[in-house]
Amino acid sequence: MDISIIVPLYNEAESLPHLYEWIARVMKENKFSYEVIFVNDGSTDTSWDVIRNLQRDNVQGTKDSTVRGICFRRNYGKSAALYCGFKAAQGDVVITMDADLQDSPDEIPELYRMIKEDGYDLVSGWKQKRYDNKLTKNLPSKLFNATARRVTGIQLHDMNCGLKAYRQEVVKNIEVFSEMHRYIPFLAKNAGFTKIGEKVVQHRKREFGTSKFGLNRFVNGYLDLMTLWFLNKFGKQPMHFFGLVGSLMFFIGFIAVIVVGSMKLYALSHGVQAMLVGVNPYFHISILMMILGCMLFLAGFLAELIIRNSPSRNDYLIKEEI
Ligand code: UDP
Ligand code: MG
Repeated sequence: MDISIIVPLYNEAESLPHLYEWIARVMKENKFSYEVIFVNDGSTDTSWDVIRNLQRDNVQGTKDSTVRGICFRRNYGKSAALYCGFKAAQGDVVITMDADLQDSPDEIPELYRMIKEDGYDLVSGWKQKRYDNKLTKNLPSKLFNATARRVTGIQLHDMNCGLKAYRQEVVKNIEVFSEMHRYIPFLAKNAGFTKIGEKVVQHRKREFGTSKFGLNRFVNGYLDLMTLWFLNKFGKQPMHFFGLVGSLMFFIGFIAVIVVGSMKLYALSHGVQAMLVGVNPYFHISILMMILGCMLFLAGFLAELIIRNSPSRNDYLIKEEI
């Protein structure tokens, strides 16, 4: 099978028939064999009925086109939907797109070509001209992408674009989890799939329904970015982080205590008036630093113990063996 198209959706009943019709037309024109996998993320509207109908109507269709559906019992989020879609996908090239008709299926043939012929592992869409709210979406998104570029080192303009294409091997070897769908290129890069490209794609206004993500996605997005950065750098050796910071703090605290004590001794031996060490604020700050340093060190040991028991501690992606 050439292409798997994964469509995560939450309450998009009105868009679905249009989207499917459009996908089917483009696929037919380009003679692709394909499957569309609708992942219904616990919709409370009639989305699942619509998918059932599309699936039923397609049974009489050609064997080169399959409609599949996965229905969650409740709303788990876009990452969960993508995770299950990736697990189910069978096509050589896997395409993800939003269900709200904001992404155009017309882009699929070129995305497919970039994966197959240009040898990209992953191609991300870039909504160069966006049709979303300027203040709440476009502007924060620019800032967000600039940060993401710095932290991840991947030069993408639109990391969180819903329209992306992957080589099958990529989606089978990364694990989207929590709200990490925003950083799939980073996950791919960390797994060793480094040929990541970008294609300017058409974007359209949302015709039906409403956006599912509010402003809090930027707060969450930044926190998730920090988590990923940390996991990538120290995930396998947390002691390198906690041990270093802990030792530094302990050391500074230790020197400071010695300085405070020496100053007191100096004052005593020269008969100068000096305050009690116990009421000297510097003394308390120094002791606090030493205690915090020890705690961080301990946190490092605990983290190492946890990693030791992680089932994936020795999972390596082997590219080739001869
Ligand atoms: N979506 C989902 N689960 C959720 C929220 C959203 O599957 O909990 C889907 C949604 O139906 C759409 C895609 O994710 O197909 C992108 O969502 P949306 O269009 O609301 O995001 P925006 O374009 O506003 O950033
Ligand atoms: Mg949208």
